[in-house]
Amino acid sequence: MNRKSRNLKTNRIVVKVGTSSLAHKSGLINYEKVENIILQLADLKNKGIEVVFVTSGAIGAGMGRLQLSKENSTLSQKQAMAAVGQNILMHIYSKFASEYGLNVGQILITREDFEHEKRSTYSKNAIMTLLELGVLPIINENDAVAVEEIKFGDNDQLSAMVAKLIDSDLLIILSDIDGLYDKNPKHHPDAKLLPHVEKITKEMFESAGDTVSTLGTGGMTTKLLAAEIAHKSGIKTIIANSNEKNVLMRLINGECIGTFFE
Ligand code: ADP
Repeated sequence: MNRKSRNLKTNRIVVKVGTSSLAHKSGLINYEKVENIILQLADLKNKGIEVVFVTSGAIGAGMGRLQLSKENSTLSQKQAMAAVGQNILMHIYSKFASEYGLNVGQILITREDFEHEKRSTYSKNAIMTLLELGVLPIINENDAVAVEEIKFGDNDQLSAMVAKLIDSDLLIILSDIDGLYDKNPKHHPDAKLLPHVEKITKEMFESAGDTVSTLGTGGMTTKLLAAEIAHKSGIKTIIANSNEKNVLMRLINGECIGTFFE
C-alpha cells in the first residue's frame, strides 16, 4: 500500500455508502457492515468533523423484507419497497447510532429540491441546522415518491449535489471495490488501480461502463459523474473500499487508499 500522505481539508465532509456495502446479495441488511459504518461516522464526529451521510439501500432492504424482486415488480411496488426499506434502514441506523451516543436525522431529497432556489435553500438550512445541533444527517433520495422522470436514480450524483449544497470540503464514496481501475477488475484480472486522477477522461468513462451489479445502481460511471460535479465546485472526491478497516478515519488522516480525484 502506498503510505504517502494526502493533504486534505476535512472540516465538513459527505460520506456516501453504496448498497453493495450495506446489504447482502439477497438485499437484506448486512448488520455488521452497517454497524461498522455508523461506528466510524460517530468517531469522525467525535473528532470534530461535520459529517453528512448519504445512504443507499432502501429499495434493497424493502425488497428483502417484502420478498419481492426488483425485476418482476411494478413501479408502484418499487415505491412500496422504498417506503418499507427506508424505515428499516433508519431504524437500524438510529439503533446503532444511539449506542455510540449519536443522534440521527433523516432528510429525503429529490432532484427537484436542487432545481429550485427556495427549495435548495430550505434543504441546505435543514442539513446545516442538524450539523449545528451535532446530529448526523442521513440523506437518501425519496424513492417512495421520486419516480423515473424526477429522480437522480443514483446516490453518487445525489451525494455530489449535497456536497456542493453544503460547501463540503471532501466527498468520500465507499463501494465494494478499492477505487477506480483502468478497467473493471471484476472482468479483467490485470486491471490496475488509479490512485490519483487529475483529469477525468473519456477513456475512464468507457472503462467504467463495464459494470455488473446486482444491488448497486450506478457502477463506476455515476461515481465519475459525481466526481465531476464535485470538482466543478472545487470539492475533492475519494472513492475507496468500505471493506478496508477503519477506512474513513484513515482517509481523513491522509492515508493514500482508494482513488483520489484532485
Ligand atoms: P455501489 O453499490 O457501491 O454504488 P456499484 O456496484 O454500483 O457499487 O459500483 C461498483 C462496481 O463498479 C464495482 O464492483 C465494479 O464491478 C464496477 N466497475 C466497472 N468499471 C469499473 C472500473 N473501471 N473500476 C472499478 N470498478 C468498476
